[in-house]
Amino acid sequence: MRQSKNFFSNMSPSRILMLPPLHKKLLLGVGMLVGISLLMPTDRVNSPQRIPVALDVESFVTSFTADDSLQIDANLADFQRTIVKGDTLSALFVEANVDQQTMYRVLEADLNILALDTLMPGNQIRFWLDDSGELQKLELYFSAARQVVFSRYEEGGFKVDEINVEGIWQNRALTGEIQGSFYLSAQHIGLNAGEIQRIESLLKEKLNFSRDLRAGDQFSVLISEQYIDGEMTGNSDILGVMIQRGSSSINAYQNSDGNFYDEQGRSLARAFQRIPLQRNYRISSSFNRHRHHPVTGRTAPHNGTDFATPIGTKIVAPGDGIVTMVTDHRYAGKYVVIDHGSKYRTRYLHLSKALVHKGQRVSRGQVIALSGKTGRITGPHLHYEFHVNGRPVDPMKANIPMASTLSKQQMQEFSQLVKVRKMMMGQV
Ligand SMILES: [Zn+2]
Repeated sequence: MRQSKNFFSNMSPSRILMLPPLHKKLLLGVGMLVGISLLMPTDRVNSPQRIPVALDVESFVTSFTADDSLQIDANLADFQRTIVKGDTLSALFVEANVDQQTMYRVLEADLNILALDTLMPGNQIRFWLDDSGELQKLELYFSAARQVVFSRYEEGGFKVDEINVEGIWQNRALTGEIQGSFYLSAQHIGLNAGEIQRIESLLKEKLNFSRDLRAGDQFSVLISEQYIDGEMTGNSDILGVMIQRGSSSINAYQNSDGNFYDEQGRSLARAFQRIPLQRNYRISSSFNRHRHHPVTGRTAPHNGTDFATPIGTKIVAPGDGIVTMVTDHRYAGKYVVIDHGSKYRTRYLHLSKALVHKGQRVSRGQVIALSGKTGRITGPHLHYEFHVNGRPVDPMKANIPMASTLSKQQMQEFSQLVKVRKMMMGQV
């Protein structure tokens, strides 16, 4: 549930910013949301929070009904470590006393989600071994909001489970003034690099950030931040941005459809094209959440669409975005990941060549890679994935933004939402 208490209702966002961090934390999302929270459209479903439990295994296990096997306390792990810069997966497995063959089986299980490749310094890895020293369970702890758990099947393979905790999302309005670059000014009021990059990319066609802003220009941002057990997870979402430049203002608000529009309802994000190719190719394997493995009989999801592309076929970005990964994987082959804002992500596997580098901005239609047959596959093809809010969806059917204007009724609802957000951002 979003919290809405009313005892700080007369505090303005700027006053809250002046409070020391502890107070800020207590106040977050509380004061500004009086009654408003009920009006806010949201499609987030808040699942119950994780409950801190003492180290009493009996009561611990019985307190969870969902999947007890996933709820083993970290303190019981046989080996656990916080990832530091320079760590490699094979070195971590050696440290944990787990052989390379087992590591490959884990990597194989990871093919569907590719979580191991996203481990960053600060994340944790935890190993549970049985009495004979065999790996029973491996947990990747990314944050309180996200863990990935590999559990061993009796005959030796691994299954993989993703745990995504929704927690509580709280809104916060920030206001600032341009002094120096937009980046520095935004950093000054507490936005992080990713959030600033999202704002810049959102408004890039409306504003030249290095040329159009003057010292003293005002800006405000409405941001939604995720909390679990009262701690910020680092996940956030931009809900509104307003930049006042002299007498004119530039603004963007996220609609309930997840897309950004200006106050007049004009779409800011450019639409996606359906496939990341310059012409159609035969689909050799469709997206299938419940695909059955013909040999093992187990359900192994096919999280993407396979196109029968000959080696060297040009692959294009289906929408504007930022390249977040270019890497090689034993089973997925050479692959590229592009983030399109905070909501959408695309992934391209089995490439012969990547033509972009990590951190690069790409535009819709730009050639990003050549298809191939790297990794463990039988014939050349492109495996294409489309993720919405971290979950894979069928790229051929998903309701992805293709339209650029709102219908009359959508516009009415949007205007209402803009009114509320402007109020929260301290604009009349
Ligand atoms: Zn595939």
